[in-house]
Amino acid sequence: MKDELSKQIISTVRQFVNQDVAPVVNELEDKDIYPKELADKMAELGLFGINIPEEYGGLGLPFKTLSDIFIELSKGWMSLAGILGTHTILSYLILNHGTEQQRKKYLPGLANGLYRGGLGLTESHSGSDVQNIRTVAKKNDEGYEINGSKMFITNGSNGNLFVIVSKTNLNATPKYKGISCFIVEKTDEGFSVGQKLNKLGYRGVDTCELLLQDCEIPLNRLLGTEEGKGFTQVMDGLETGRINVAARSVGVAKVALDMSIKYTKNRETFGKKIKDHQMIQSMIASMATKIEAANLLVSNAAKLKDRGERVDLESGMAKLYASEICQEVCMDAMRIHGGYGYVKDLPIERFYRDAPLMIIGEGTNEIMKLLIAKRIYEKYI
Ligand SMILES: Cc1cc2nc3c(=O)[nH]c(=O)nc-3n(C[C@H](O)[C@H](O)[C@H](O)COP(=O)(O)OP(=O)(O)OC[C@H]3O[C@@H](n4cnc5c(N)ncnc54)[C@H](O)[C@@H]3O)c2cc1C
Repeated sequence: MKDELSKQIISTVRQFVNQDVAPVVNELEDKDIYPKELADKMAELGLFGINIPEEYGGLGLPFKTLSDIFIELSKGWMSLAGILGTHTILSYLILNHGTEQQRKKYLPGLANGLYRGGLGLTESHSGSDVQNIRTVAKKNDEGYEINGSKMFITNGSNGNLFVIVSKTNLNATPKYKGISCFIVEKTDEGFSVGQKLNKLGYRGVDTCELLLQDCEIPLNRLLGTEEGKGFTQVMDGLETGRINVAARSVGVAKVALDMSIKYTKNRETFGKKIKDHQMIQSMIASMATKIEAANLLVSNAAKLKDRGERVDLESGMAKLYASEICQEVCMDAMRIHGGYGYVKDLPIERFYRDAPLMIIGEGTNEIMKLLIAKRIYEKYI
């Protein structure tokens, strides 16, 4: 049943990319315009509820399907997968760490796209160093008062629901035990959206600063029931986020390879198609092999997650490898296209500009290596 639905939805997404995304992507990307109509269409298709169970109005699809959907969307425009990526982390956090009251209140709206949101973790002075965040939530009789700011938040201005990671105990040792997550609505008093950032790639989707000034929220917006669980909750969410970032990398790399293959079959130099030059064949072979390996890593992490296993190691490896090869493949695609790869008439230069985000986002690749090494030593000592 789920297999059939998964096949159907992947084919629908492919169609959406060809019919709706392809004709408009260049202009929206170039002008950095938020793709409202495309986002609304994704909501209509049910994509905002990919990972939300049917009982809460979602499609309840496995992570393997989620990653395949992210690959297909990224072949069309990685930014669209970005809009959904952070939204699926938010949904995951509420589903797996929220109370039943929070699930009932938010998941149906997240599934149909009424709520669109993201994760507010990073701050201007602390990205990788999560435990050093300075946003503070103080408890009083009626609720919590949050003060601080968040940086680089995807869906920051178009989203209306966020998980905001804050300190609830400044003296906790280790520090992570003083971190809690809160569900914050855009309409909450004291919440506002700051500057929208102008980016190299990943354009269209909004990346903003969020400001929380004496932001008052009720007690029942603490994610779950206990303070001090926020670090573990958010790391669990990022595990799934890394699968989606890895899948996005595979999608961008795949489309760069597809275009390169087509181009080599047509372009002629020195009296023959460039596909008949061995150095071009060598590049195509390396690109295809790297993509195959990255795809297998993504698929493995997603399948293990579907079996309910801990996948920080596997999703970290998938994110690290897929994002690095994505950057390499996009550069090779540019080499293969020669001067035409460098100009905006073709999307190759967009792929090249989009690729680095996957290296930086959802934990940089240096942090991925630290995490992988830690887990490897735990496993083998
Ligand atoms: C377009 C975009 C969208 C984003 N969306 C979101 C979002 O929706 N929500 C959110 O919360 N965040 C978001 N981020 C933030 C992103 O997760 C951070 O930028 C990232 O985690 C890195 O943090 P930083 O920029 O502060 O770099 P830093 O942590 O300052 O790192 C700087 C450099 O030092 C390296 N480094 C740091 N610590 C170590 C170490 N211990 N060992 C070795 N090297 C180290 C890093 O790898 C990096 O190379 C987004 C970022 C971008 C660019």
